[in-house]
Amino acid sequence: MSGHEDFDGQVMGDKTYQQALVLMDQQDPLAEKTAAFEVPRDLVYLDGNSLGCLPLAAKQRAREVVEQQWGQDLIKSWNLHQWIDLPVSAGEKIARLIGAAPGQTICCDSVSVNLFKLLSAALAMQTGRHVVVSQQGNFPTDLYMVQGLVRQLGGDRCCLQRVDDDDIGSALTDDVAVLLLSHVNFRSGALYDMQAITAQAQARGILVIWDLAHSAGVLPVQLDACNVDFAVGCGYKYLNGGPGAPAFLYVASRHQSQARQPLSGWMGHLAPFDFDHDYEPAPGVAGFLSGTPPVISMSILDAALDVFADVDIRQLRRKSLALAGVFLQAVEQSPRLSGLCLLSPADEAQRGAQLAYRHPHAFAICQALIAHGVIADFRAPDILRVGFSPLYLRFADVGRSVEVLTRIMQEDLWRDPAYAVRHKVT
Ligand SMILES: *Cc1c(COP(=O)(O)O)cnc(C)c1O
Repeated sequence: MSGHEDFDGQVMGDKTYQQALVLMDQQDPLAEKTAAFEVPRDLVYLDGNSLGCLPLAAKQRAREVVEQQWGQDLIKSWNLHQWIDLPVSAGEKIARLIGAAPGQTICCDSVSVNLFKLLSAALAMQTGRHVVVSQQGNFPTDLYMVQGLVRQLGGDRCCLQRVDDDDIGSALTDDVAVLLLSHVNFRSGALYDMQAITAQAQARGILVIWDLAHSAGVLPVQLDACNVDFAVGCGYKYLNGGPGAPAFLYVASRHQSQARQPLSGWMGHLAPFDFDHDYEPAPGVAGFLSGTPPVISMSILDAALDVFADVDIRQLRRKSLALAGVFLQAVEQSPRLSGLCLLSPADEAQRGAQLAYRHPHAFAICQALIAHGVIADFRAPDILRVGFSPLYLRFADVGRSVEVLTRIMQEDLWRDPAYAVRHKVT
């Protein structure tokens, strides 16, 4: 890691600018939350939208669940340490963050698997309708899961229609069963109007599934108030649950007696430990569980969620927009960075907690950033993404990241052939 100290204060110039950022940190009501995370000192981490940082409480819990609960208490821990309740208890902690009253949110599986369950349930509730409408630019797994259902059910029972954002409204016709949308676009960061779109779809008899992967834990989500039917979301992004953390799903109370999912495993059974021969779903959202919960990773996520216990989501929103604002403005004002073309909506009310820039050499620029201690990410074909996770990112860090970026562009550092090498994960 080469030192950024060398050019601290040189590229962005001005000491007063640095001081302004330090002042913003001093006045930040969330500043002390940084101490709840392990953030490597020499890094500026702008990738919390892909993998959140490690909460110290999660680290502690990992040790506890492995050493004491598994190591010493073994199978007694299902009751003794409430392992069996984790899907519900972690689910309810998430519910608070997404505007869901109790009894509708459960922690389980991955976003992909949960989408399969919800899509199947929703399609079965819609007799005579077979079309699933989604965004053309939705996260691929969301579209892939629909494609899998098309193969399984046949085109007359399930068919995927991908539409551009501007055409969502006009695609909501009488043959549409389900509208599946990401709340925040994973590439551009564009934020969709959950309330308006949900109402518009429901007025035409369509059930709506929202994917909250890029909004849960970073901006206010009001599932109940927006009368949303179903939702899924991710545990390892803004919820900081760790790599491969379990995901969550939401089923509105009003649908719970009717909605049935096909992965009818024993953990979703009314009485798993009766070991009945026949499946009977548990009432409520618990019927959307399938197999045994991944106790270690769900415990870690459960501990990570406690970081949010005393946090006001509106405060998170305000800070992430302010952090992004600092980055955006600095890029706009730097002639060296004029090659970066903003893909995200310029209006902050219309975007989530990340910024995306197009550049023909985005991949190499991203690699150069990483080599110089600024972790951003790249999305094919030409997008540089920077995420502003408000729980642990400081304004001074954002200032430093723009300095590094400016130096990389000014000195053409990204042209180093080492930065062209592509690995499996980008
Ligand atoms: C990250 C992300 C996912 C991840 O899905 P998994 O099955 O949990 O790996 C799904 N959808 C969106 C929109 C995402 O951003």
